[in-house]
Amino acid sequence: MNSPPQGGIGKGVGRMAAFEFSEPNIVSDELRMVREQIRKFVEEEIVPQAEAWEEAGHIPRELFRSLGKLGFLGMRHPVEYGGGGLGAMASAIFGEELGRCTYGGVAASLTVHSDMSISHIAHRGSAEQKQRYLPPACRGELVGAVCVTEPNAGSDVAGLKTRAVRDGDTWVINGNKTFITNGYYGDIYIVAARTDPQAKGSRGISLFIVDRGTPGFTIGRKFEKHGWRASDTAELFFDDVRLPAQQLLGEEGKGFYYIMSTFQNERLVAAAMSVGQCAKGIELTLEYMKTRQAFGKTLWEQPVVRNKLAWLAAKSAAARAMVYSCAQMIDEGKDTVREVSMLKSYACELVNEVLHGCLQLHGGTGFIIGTTIERMTRDVRILTIGGGATEVMLEEVAKRM
Ligand SMILES: Cc1cc2nc3c(=O)[nH]c(=O)nc-3n(C[C@H](O)[C@H](O)[C@H](O)COP(=O)(O)OP(=O)(O)OC[C@H]3O[C@@H](n4cnc5c(N)ncnc54)[C@H](O)[C@@H]3O)c2cc1C
Repeated sequence: MNSPPQGGIGKGVGRMAAFEFSEPNIVSDELRMVREQIRKFVEEEIVPQAEAWEEAGHIPRELFRSLGKLGFLGMRHPVEYGGGGLGAMASAIFGEELGRCTYGGVAASLTVHSDMSISHIAHRGSAEQKQRYLPPACRGELVGAVCVTEPNAGSDVAGLKTRAVRDGDTWVINGNKTFITNGYYGDIYIVAARTDPQAKGSRGISLFIVDRGTPGFTIGRKFEKHGWRASDTAELFFDDVRLPAQQLLGEEGKGFYYIMSTFQNERLVAAAMSVGQCAKGIELTLEYMKTRQAFGKTLWEQPVVRNKLAWLAAKSAAARAMVYSCAQMIDEGKDTVREVSMLKSYACELVNEVLHGCLQLHGGTGFIIGTTIERMTRDVRILTIGGGATEVMLEEVAKRM
């Protein structure tokens, strides 16, 4: 492929003139340092290698282990089980800084592990489950996946059909899951299954911890995807998978409630990733506009053109303020379903608008495979669908108005 024209087109981010939002006042000094460390790690350890991971279709175990060693994978989890004991603000920073790496699939694999799957064990696990799974998960030695979606139940979580039947001291699981991040290479699978078929919709669902290699548990296709190519996404099959009773997570029948409560954190992190991607997309476009000439001036010297980027920056700053306000509400133990649903819908729609606008400002260059903006534009597309589609989020808002 010919080299594309100059500007914000590189595969990496290292040499960019930084565009970033000022640090919110509510972020503590400790977390500011955490942000700096993650940013350094992203620029030095992720960006230079991520193109190879994109081609391989997954991130290496070494990346989990390196982040684990630095304590970033367990920031939310209890100190006594190897975590950092930090709050939602730490998760927001982790998501935002990973979003700035420009590889959505890398950010997805890591945050599904740290903030969307293992969190179920941290929140609801027995002391024995926490002891067994959390320390190696925080160290990045075991990788987590969360398995809710099925071929016929996505947005409608309560419609899931995978069945778990009690048989003496064991549970027997039958069914299948699809679109599972870290599904192909994971180790610990948090699986939602129906334990009471008589109970209405959401009431008869429970969560189980299934280890890779459990007899009857098989991994199907690894999907080729429009974006998020550095994350592995798979379908999973459960054929008479027999689990000891202690693999039930939390209380029987409470799975739907657990999924919904962990969703608040998951959606916060998805929104934080979105604002990180907005900032990086704007930064790349700013650099491009400052060098790209049209009609005898740089694009940046033409107010009508640069106002477009300023408008995207203004909206991104608003979304970012929502991220930190929601993180603060979660840390204060407030009910955040309405606010987090607003945030998830707004930030994930916005990042698509921002990247679409940034690609437009790159002209034809932005359409060329191998440019960062082209990849980012594909990566953000899933964010209005996964983890609660925009329409479903807005319905959660409407119900609370
Ligand atoms: C790359 C990728 C990674 C994923 N990772 C995971 C994972 O790790 N774990 C997991 O469990 N799942 C995962 N998913 C699944 C994801 O969460 C679902 O795709 C998502 O919840 C939407 O479900 P669906 O695809 O079945 O769409 P459907 O539920 O069939 O909905 C299709 C569309 O219809 C619209 N819609 C649906 N319901 C409503 C409604 N009530 N009101 C208005 N409009 C509506 C929305 O526009 C929606 O996008 C992943 C998906 C992808 C593509």
